[in-house]
Amino acid sequence: MRNNLNSDKRVRVRYAPSPTGEPHVGNIRTALFDWLVAKKFDGDFIVRVEDTDQDRKVDGAIDLQKSSLQWLGLEWDEGLGKDGEFGPYVQSERLNIYIDHVNILISNEKAYKCFCTPERLQELRKKQRESKSQVVGYDGFCRDKSENYSTYSITDGCVVRFAMPQSGQSTLNDLVRNQVTFENRLIEDFVMMKSDGFPTYHFASVVDDHLMEISLIVRGEEWLSSLPRHIQIHKAFNWEMPDFAHIPTILAPDKTKLSKRHGATSVLEFKKEGYLPETMINFLCLLGWSIDGEQELISIDELIEKFNISDLSPSGSVFDKNKLNWMNGQYLKNKSAPQLAKTLFDFWVEFPPESFDSVPSEKELEIIAPLISERLKTLREAEEWIAFLYKNNISYSIEDLIQKNSDIQLTNLFIEKAINSLSELEKFQASFIEINLRELISELEVKPGMFLGTIRMATSGQIISPPLFESLEILGREKTMNLLLQADQMVKQSINA
Ligand code: GLU
Repeated sequence: MRNNLNSDKRVRVRYAPSPTGEPHVGNIRTALFDWLVAKKFDGDFIVRVEDTDQDRKVDGAIDLQKSSLQWLGLEWDEGLGKDGEFGPYVQSERLNIYIDHVNILISNEKAYKCFCTPERLQELRKKQRESKSQVVGYDGFCRDKSENYSTYSITDGCVVRFAMPQSGQSTLNDLVRNQVTFENRLIEDFVMMKSDGFPTYHFASVVDDHLMEISLIVRGEEWLSSLPRHIQIHKAFNWEMPDFAHIPTILAPDKTKLSKRHGATSVLEFKKEGYLPETMINFLCLLGWSIDGEQELISIDELIEKFNISDLSPSGSVFDKNKLNWMNGQYLKNKSAPQLAKTLFDFWVEFPPESFDSVPSEKELEIIAPLISERLKTLREAEEWIAFLYKNNISYSIEDLIQKNSDIQLTNLFIEKAINSLSELEKFQASFIEINLRELISELEVKPGMFLGTIRMATSGQIISPPLFESLEILGREKTMNLLLQADQMVKQSINA
């Protein structure tokens, strides 16, 4: 056994999204685990599109899968636009393969055609419900008719059902849940080919996993109940079982399944909110897994080295947004000035800051970004911190200017003095600005916060801003002086009113 995998075949893992909407963080966590296993064992990571449910197909959903994986750097080897020797990797392009395979099972009497009408099935369900029968589902009406074992073709207009063994158990050693066992008699003869000629998920995924030589199937625990069906299809073909790992559901703090009503659930929404890909990878990995129960910040290289699918906990894990914010703050803080500047610049190219009239250059951001990096939890928050530098107009009220325990006369004095002092500056640089303004504070014998609060409001219109002296340097002499003069006018008007 290789590092807790049951199988010693070449490691081939697949992420098998259905194109039904924006990928949920739960799906992407599955993809991440797949990717980590492939990386760790130098195996292959395959992305297969499971679009057999044509009614649920959403246009553009495949592109969203692609962008989500690409954003996180989860490069794949086959499928989703990449060729490979096991293609096609889109199930709707593999219909002939399923038809050939269902006919193998029909000829071996492991599957049969079923012509029962929807009305009959509805009536059957009603009766079963009324009689409180333990076994609900198809009653095998078409199973005993020899004519239903003739070759299937789409034009038959029927469904094909699997002839489920009526006794015995289906059992498997799941990598996360250990031994799992199901009673076969409780499972109906389920549909493998639908009347529209498309296979069901159960059938298509088993056929594809086998033909694509998948060695390990990682998927959400909601698929556990499908496992006996999949085990029996493998048996009917005499195929070797791959490994399975049914991973825990991601829960919201109220312990229900994380869904839209709890906030963002799609990876691309997190991208838009300004979370870093490295944060998402680290955070998602820790939903259900840990290195030692303590270490929180784990680099991708370390994850690849230490991750072990069988160390996952089988119970659901809670998505803690506070922890995500904290983690993102850590990753932001640990970036060098040029790295953070580039990240912020790229973020704003994709999601332009609405409140800015002009967008900062990467060079400017190299100076500004380090000033706020300690305070940021997300890239998006940076906009609010530095908006005043890139807005043509700022606005505030006279009440905003007058600080706590100050008054309008004092505010007037602060602004006049600041104008005089700063206009004399030879070099409009943070260190000189600081010396001058601090001299004023001593001369006026006031609390620094009171004085600087007024200047901050006058020059930024914000209660919070990056460190003031640096901010003024970035604003530049002309803009700073204009803003102070405007404030001066406002205060004087108010005094004279
Ligand atoms: N198409 C299924 C889904 O979207 C994949 C289940 C599996 O991995 O077997 O959840």
